[in-house]
Amino acid sequence: MSPIPPALLTWALGAGAALAAGLPDAAALPPDAAPPPDDAAALARMQADVAWMVEALGPRPAGGEAEAKAAAGVAARLDAAGWRPEVVGCPLCVVACRGAGRRLFLAHLDSVPGTAGAVDNAAGVAALLELARSTSSEDLCLGFPAAEEAGLLGSAAMAAAWPAPLPELVVALDLTGHGRLSVTGLGPRWGGADLRWLREHAPVDSPYAYRVVSRALPGMERSDHRPFADRGARALHLLGRGPGGVFDRYHQPDDDHVEAPALAELLAALQGLARAPLPQGRPDAAATVGPLVLPAWATWSVLAAALLLGLHDLLRPARGRPVLDPLLDLGRALLRCLLASLVAGIALAAATRAGAFTPTRGELTAAQVMGLPASGWWTGALPGLAAGWLAWLLLRWRLGGRGSPTLPAALLAALALRVDPLLALPFAAAGLLARAHPLLGALPALYLLWPDKLRELAFHGLLPPAAWGALWLLTWPAFGSYARRARRDPR
Ligand SMILES: [Zn+2]
Repeated sequence: MSPIPPALLTWALGAGAALAAGLPDAAALPPDAAPPPDDAAALARMQADVAWMVEALGPRPAGGEAEAKAAAGVAARLDAAGWRPEVVGCPLCVVACRGAGRRLFLAHLDSVPGTAGAVDNAAGVAALLELARSTSSEDLCLGFPAAEEAGLLGSAAMAAAWPAPLPELVVALDLTGHGRLSVTGLGPRWGGADLRWLREHAPVDSPYAYRVVSRALPGMERSDHRPFADRGARALHLLGRGPGGVFDRYHQPDDDHVEAPALAELLAALQGLARAPLPQGRPDAAATVGPLVLPAWATWSVLAAALLLGLHDLLRPARGRPVLDPLLDLGRALLRCLLASLVAGIALAAATRAGAFTPTRGELTAAQVMGLPASGWWTGALPGLAAGWLAWLLLRWRLGGRGSPTLPAALLAALALRVDPLLALPFAAAGLLARAHPLLGALPALYLLWPDKLRELAFHGLLPPAAWGALWLLTWPAFGSYARRARRDPR
């Protein structure tokens, strides 16, 4: 993947609410297993192609000799597999098509300087070459853009030069060949029928938060699908997610090997996507939630219910005058939340910034790539969060709650709705659950204030560790209470 422009970072931080897109990740895929015997030969060919790029060619920075050799070698391999490679958009952008070209799979040839780029991106290139040898698809283009790491230059040129119409489905492979195969880039062009299509034909992990970021911040997409998505194509990005959700050797000199089970899993997913009938759904606000596809009508129903109940609690409060007293209670709950957030945030900051922990591999990579200080935040997140949540719970217990917990949740949902319905959905759901107990109103914050989630947000440049504590402000609904409502009726 290419580095994130600083302006985008600022923008993403400003849209900090986009981080609150929390629901549990998709269910675990089947555990890594040895490929079946008939796939062993395919796996060996993919590993040989990875070895060719990593060991024989080595680092392939954009514009260098090794990148040109990679393009020539890919063209020769496509030719040997019976395809007719040509150049589209830029001198090293290799494309080979069968049929009408309605489906395009992409894997960039280059690497950043100083790394042989096994996961980024020899694995993707090797998988597409093996697909070329083995697929029976009669409607498929395989594209190998150059200069992805220089800012998606090859794929942008390829998209600009693509003869109309654009492909209906564009799949970019970037950072595959390790961890669990996952999908991102499912932006505004995707709807429920398409998400179900994806589930049916490629068993990939599809985290809810990725779908939210792809919808709310399409400018954050960082791989070769982006220029095509910008032009209106239905596009996605396949990547592996290692422990903690990241690739902790990203753009580092030791990105020099791949995981065989991950390569086999990738090839199987590509075989499915290459032969499936193309998705035909309409864009809507459906979401992936664990193994399920939550239809758009369910999203809108939860949002409508929470907003109506919030309005009800404003106009017909359990205690006091309409509007005025609920608004005063809202302010009192916010003050309590601010105090608890401050104390919890200080506990978290003390653990992550005191330098008591040795920086881990992922943290050193984030320091190299993102410029984050390697203060021990990776390891410190766990004790820091434990201390922070304990402080928060104690304060919540001492301070008590005030007013409707649904009203602040509905307010947060209404604010998030201005960005995207799927960003608002967790707050709306928390507002409904909070009617059972106000503490359930803290669920979206609990999802984000968790070690893995914070590390992934920091690693991707979405939220530096210094700002983590601010997420406790999202626990505002948990500072409501229904105690007085229960005592009102006998009067
Ligand atoms: Zn890449």
